[in-house]
Amino acid sequence: MKIRELALHAYYYGSLPLRRRYRNRLEAEGQAPLCVLFYHRVADTHPNGWSIGNREFQRQMRWLKQNVDVVSLQEIQARMRSGRNDRVAVAVTFDDGYAENCQQAIPFLIEHEIPMTYFVALDFVVHDRPFPHDVAEGQPLPVNTPQQLREMAASGIEIGAHTRSHCDVGAINDSETMVDEIVTATTELGRLVEQPIRYFAFPYGQKTNLSAAAVHLAKSQGLSGVCSAYGAYNFPGSDPFHIQRFHADPEFIRLKNWVTIDRRKVGFGRGYEFAETGVKTADVTG
Ligand SMILES: [Zn+2]
Repeated sequence: MKIRELALHAYYYGSLPLRRRYRNRLEAEGQAPLCVLFYHRVADTHPNGWSIGNREFQRQMRWLKQNVDVVSLQEIQARMRSGRNDRVAVAVTFDDGYAENCQQAIPFLIEHEIPMTYFVALDFVVHDRPFPHDVAEGQPLPVNTPQQLREMAASGIEIGAHTRSHCDVGAINDSETMVDEIVTATTELGRLVEQPIRYFAFPYGQKTNLSAAAVHLAKSQGLSGVCSAYGAYNFPGSDPFHIQRFHADPEFIRLKNWVTIDRRKVGFGRGYEFAETGVKTADVTG
């Protein structure tokens, strides 16, 4: 075990009694945090920084079911909107669209009735093309086929948009590209999977990768919400259109630390406001 992980174990178990009390208090006050996790790839071969093994993934899902309310993104938003949440809740999302997720992870989620939102970058699916970050690692991993996505949608999995080209939305400099990545690609994805698209997740999802103009476009497109990924809880009473997520894989202790409510992280992302970028909101309105 690495030193950082050892330290995290010590912190987690050392603070367990305190965090139990803290969680109980938040739940009693109806202010329990709403957690949204993102995974990328569940597979037992070619492990990398964005993969988790099948056994470990299933262990995490079982633990979540035992310890929190496992709900859909829609339910997360309903609890944000209502201003009250009596029990810590977790929603599961996946980003990118890796084919191997269909082998065990997705059947497992369906069988255990765990709601899931699956964000895919359109071009990679349409052109059966590996992601540049996998090619760069010398391991071009297979992506989902349109047929797999349609079957997932038909099984009750919510397919979400993740741009056309998996671009850094915060770095887009012209409104035409912005509209194509956020609006046109989302419409095309909906047609491809034969399901209305309700959610959008920013690729990379750090604060510099977000954009107020893109959020405006997503709203005007009629989407129900957008997801970031910079590591923050959601709270009852916060703006339900912005769903903040944190990384779930692959170390279980880190996931447990988040989900059992790490007091040090509770302030992260509170009252976050999207910044204007190269493409301004005014450039995409009217
Ligand atoms: Zn992504």
